[in-house]
Amino acid sequence: MIFLDAAATTPVRREVLEAMWPYLSGDFGNPSSHHSLGETAATALAESRSAVAKVLNCRAGEVTFTSGGTEADNLAVKGIALARQAADSSLNRVVISAIEHPAVEESARYLERVHGFTVDVLPVDSEGLVSVEGLRSLLRPETALVSIMYANNEVGTVQPVAALAAVAREYGVPFHTDAVQAAGWLPLDVKALGADALSISGHKLGAPKGSGVLFTKGRLPLEPLVHGGGQERGRRSGTENVAGAVALSTALRLSSTEQPQQAARVSELRETFIARILANVPDAMLTGHRSQRLPSVASFCFPGTSGESVLLELERHGVVCSSGSACAAGSDAPSAVLVALGIAPETAQTAVRFSFTSAVTGDELEQAAAAVETAVVRVRNLAPPNPGR
Ligand code: PLP
Repeated sequence: MIFLDAAATTPVRREVLEAMWPYLSGDFGNPSSHHSLGETAATALAESRSAVAKVLNCRAGEVTFTSGGTEADNLAVKGIALARQAADSSLNRVVISAIEHPAVEESARYLERVHGFTVDVLPVDSEGLVSVEGLRSLLRPETALVSIMYANNEVGTVQPVAALAAVAREYGVPFHTDAVQAAGWLPLDVKALGADALSISGHKLGAPKGSGVLFTKGRLPLEPLVHGGGQERGRRSGTENVAGAVALSTALRLSSTEQPQQAARVSELRETFIARILANVPDAMLTGHRSQRLPSVASFCFPGTSGESVLLELERHGVVCSSGSACAAGSDAPSAVLVALGIAPETAQTAVRFSFTSAVTGDELEQAAAAVETAVVRVRNLAPPNPGR
């Protein structure tokens, strides 16, 4: 099988499994326990926090472990906006981009529905980029938070995060970025980015599902979402997932060491793959930004097909990828991200996303490109005339 769906999830790396294994077996203690087993677990948790902090160029106390990217995004958006509003009741607006992951978008909608916030949506251009001046025009004295993703999960477009964060800072508004897809591929130095909060998910990096991190700067107020025993300095109660924290920190450390070299290598393979598809598949359309995109994502629309049929056909040829048209809940509505880029809904239904792990090879992508050429022709020949073409 050629696995080209790494933006959905990645296999756990061997080094990560080996690092976490002791904390699932012999050293299984609860970090809050006052005996040697507990102390061993507490030490592992502290070391993991420091390792994450080193990659993010922040202090260990600014790192909160969560159950994944979704929880980190929820904690950032709701936790920062609600804490700021509690201190100043005039703060009742949040800014998000039009192409946020549902973890951010639905958190903002929750603030709107339950807490009376207004959600200001920053549009994107046809390549998925927001405009820095557009952000400036949306900022108001009542804005509690800006949340704009680092890199998009469907089309791979990378936003100018440092410039966006600088504008938010000018207005004294905290800036959160969802770096779930960026982690492993792009620099994560929160000081260079100017981010006040940043989310990461372990399972996109070679750690298991159910591990994540939220960085929050210094004394940025944060209202917890999960109440209980006060773990994670009161920001996120619940017995800590020690093995998950060890896994995430190991995966993050490894990927950040490998990142410059892997990003360059995989970007080159991605370019060859994109060029081949655009040259050999009639009417194929690249979605997202031509150059400001994740090294690991090549996404297309193939008018005259349905993304789902191309997917099935590709799987018959041993290539596993994802259709851009269906959301996580399995809806067959066209992707809101592609529609926000101005792509017609019927064309958006023909989307296919290829996303690579850092282990991808040129050979695999050559075979995959050949399979795409065959699959698209076959689906077009089978399909009744499609208005998307
Ligand atoms: N944010 C982005 C951009 C994502 O791609 C994902 C997962 O697909 C998430 C957040 C959610 O992360 P998790 O699966 O760890 O909850």
